[in-house]
Amino acid sequence: MDDFLLGCEPDTLSIRAGITRSQFGEHSEALYLTSSFIAPNAAEAAKRFSGEAPGFIYSRFTNPTVTAFEERLAALEGAEFCVATASGMSAILSLCMGLLKAGDHIVAAQGMFGATQQLLGNILGKFGIETSWVPATDVASFRAAVKPNTRLFFVETPSNPLTELVDIAAVSEVAHAAGAWLAVDNCFCSPALQQPIKLGADFVIHSATKFIDGQGRVLGGAVLGPKEPMQEVFRFLRTAGPSMSPFNAWVALGGLETLRLRVEAQSASALAIAQWLEKQPQVERVNYPWLASHPQHELAKRQQKAGGAVVSFEVKDGREAAWRVIDHCKLLSITANLGDTKTTITHPSTTTHGRVSPEAREAAGIREGLVRVAVGLEAVTDIQADLSRGLNA
Ligand SMILES: *Cc1c(COP(=O)(O)O)cnc(C)c1O
Repeated sequence: MDDFLLGCEPDTLSIRAGITRSQFGEHSEALYLTSSFIAPNAAEAAKRFSGEAPGFIYSRFTNPTVTAFEERLAALEGAEFCVATASGMSAILSLCMGLLKAGDHIVAAQGMFGATQQLLGNILGKFGIETSWVPATDVASFRAAVKPNTRLFFVETPSNPLTELVDIAAVSEVAHAAGAWLAVDNCFCSPALQQPIKLGADFVIHSATKFIDGQGRVLGGAVLGPKEPMQEVFRFLRTAGPSMSPFNAWVALGGLETLRLRVEAQSASALAIAQWLEKQPQVERVNYPWLASHPQHELAKRQQKAGGAVVSFEVKDGREAAWRVIDHCKLLSITANLGDTKTTITHPSTTTHGRVSPEAREAAGIREGLVRVAVGLEAVTDIQADLSRGLNA
């Protein structure tokens, strides 16, 4: 990447960072669909394998299209190093496998993405890595959960579907005082709205499947962080192989170019819909960080540039009423995916959080009447009309 780009604004970086042109001088980012790369001679091949010389070897390790994506995302997150992965979950796996060993302890926020809870709680548990779960909004409980073997704090903010916030700056101080790292899953905000490393986090995790692609086309993920510990993450990826495909990197690269515009427009629509929902008599409660009624609205304004695209609300009369709203939608897609230009709607307690026990769901506040909407780019009035059908049925 050209040095002069380092001083440029995020809008410029999202378009220009990470480009290296081939001998043909192509203007747009090239898609290198090749599994391996040839070396000019045996000595050079040996140097590339030992890491003495730069240069591509094999696309499980790196690929020029994937590198372009990694450099662009690193520039936007303000990170020293980025490793792209096949999905968001393989990013979390690669981070943990790179940094941790049997006997280590993780402090994680409750209410994280369901598969993250399964991975940290059940799968890593089988390998002797223990996780303690603490309420996301309570900084003191993070401190109280620290053990002598705590190596990693893992959080997601805002949370899904209740949009609870973790105070990144405060929790990073607790983590560092304990001699541990803080990793933040920045999927819901994206670097367009929140840059966890600037707030004190050590690592950032992405599911590029969500807002980064932004059009629901490909899976992808990334781990970002300081160069030195990231080498361990890269070593795991290069060996175990949950690497990002060049095609998916090429799609996600294009997604980064319009990320801020999309996320800002989606946030503006989400706020309008959240404010409108608060006025509907059938709605008991609306969760959205940019509403003055959100318990952490002040924190949201400190650490985010906008509220994001995800709104959840609770209707009176529980599951029956929630399903009625969903089933009357003609425009909104009934799917658990989010971050898409197409608005999606889901019933968390029977889909994304269906595997959580009813008691744990109730304790977490994910009740039967809760509906989650991930706002896309359709007209706000059309989205409201779709939601009105079920609310008024
Ligand atoms: C979707 C999601 C993930 C997992 O990403 P995949 O790309 O589906 O593997 C992780 N964290 C959050 C917050 C997500 O929404």
